[in-house]
Amino acid sequence: MSEKAILFDSSKCTACKGCQIACKCWNGLPSPTGLNENVFSGTLQNPPDVNGDTRLIITFNEMEAEEGMSNKSIAWAFGRRSCQHCSDAPCAQVCPGGALVKDEATGFVSVDDSKCIGCQYCSSACPFDVPHYYGAQSKVNKCTGCIDRVENGMAPACVSTCQPGALQFGDRDEMIAIAHKRVEFLKAHGYEKATVYGENEMGGLHVIQVLKYGVEAHGQVEDPKVSPMVGLQQIMKPITAVGTGATVLGLGAMFALAAGYRHKNLAYNEKTGDTIDVDTGEVVKHGDAQDELTVVEHLTENLPKKKGGSHE
Ligand code: SF4
Ligand code: SF4
Ligand code: SF4
Repeated sequence: MSEKAILFDSSKCTACKGCQIACKCWNGLPSPTGLNENVFSGTLQNPPDVNGDTRLIITFNEMEAEEGMSNKSIAWAFGRRSCQHCSDAPCAQVCPGGALVKDEATGFVSVDDSKCIGCQYCSSACPFDVPHYYGAQSKVNKCTGCIDRVENGMAPACVSTCQPGALQFGDRDEMIAIAHKRVEFLKAHGYEKATVYGENEMGGLHVIQVLKYGVEAHGQVEDPKVSPMVGLQQIMKPITAVGTGATVLGLGAMFALAAGYRHKNLAYNEKTGDTIDVDTGEVVKHGDAQDELTVVEHLTENLPKKKGGSHE
C-alpha cells in the first residue's frame, strides 16, 4: 500500500462539523460531558479543544473581514485540528510503552491504549499538542487515521461524511497535487496568502491542508519542530531497559526535561484546567485537568510495584 493522506480544503469547509460527529460514531467515543460545562469558549468552536473523547475539532478562527468577504466585520477561517500524522512522529519515538506506532505503509500513526501507561510524553513531544487523556481511564487518545477502515479499503470516517468535499482521501502524492492546484486557483482569485500545509512540515504530514488565508489565520503551527526531549529519550531507552530501578530514573529524567522544555514560567488555572505560559500568555496545555503535580502523581501510581505494594 502506498503512503496515504487526508486532504482538508479550508476553502470548501462550511464548518458543519459532520466530520467531528462521524469520528465519534465510528470510533465509539462519547460526548465529553463535563468538559464543556461552565466553559464559554466565546466562539462556535465546540468543544474548545481536542480531548481524550474528541479526536477532531473544526476550529473557528476569527479574522477581520476584508472588503467583499462578508457583510459582517468578523469572518471565520475554519481549521481542522487533529493528529497530522507526522512522518517523523516524535510521539511514537518517545512512547515508552509502544502505544503509539507509525504504520510505515500508510504513514498513519495509530494508538493502542492497552499499552499506554499514561505518562503523556507524547503530549510533550507533539508540536501540535494533540494526544490527550482519554476520559477517566487515564489513557491517551488521538486520531488514528481510521487505519482500521483504510486497511479494509474504506476512507476515514470523517472524510466519508463531508458533503462539500472539503475532505478527500487518497495517495499522498495525489492529495498534494490536488492541494497545489487548488491553491493556484485561489491565488488567481485574489487569495494571495493561500498555501499548501503539510507537504514538508515534520518530514511531511499525512494530513495535507489548503489554507485559504495562510497558515496563521487557520490556527496552524508555523514551522513545527521536534522537541529536544525526543533526543534524550533515545539516550534513556537503553538505560530504562536495564531494570525497574533504572526505569524510575529514566522516567524521572525524561519528566524533568519535558517539564523544562515546556514549562518555563507556568500558571495552572484551576477553573479551566489550562496551563498558561505566564511570559507569553500562551496556553501550553489545554484544560484536561492534568497539572504537573497530577502528572507526577499519575506517573508514580503507574510505575510497577514490588510484591509488598511499594513503588520501586
Ligand atoms: S464535514 Fe466537511 S464541511 Fe463539514 S465541518 Fe467537516 S470538513 Fe467542514
Ligand atoms: S501530530 Fe502529534 S500526535 Fe500526531 S503524529 Fe505528529 S507528533 Fe504524533
Ligand atoms: S481519520 Fe478517523 S480517527 Fe482521525 S479524525 Fe477522521 S474519523 Fe477521526
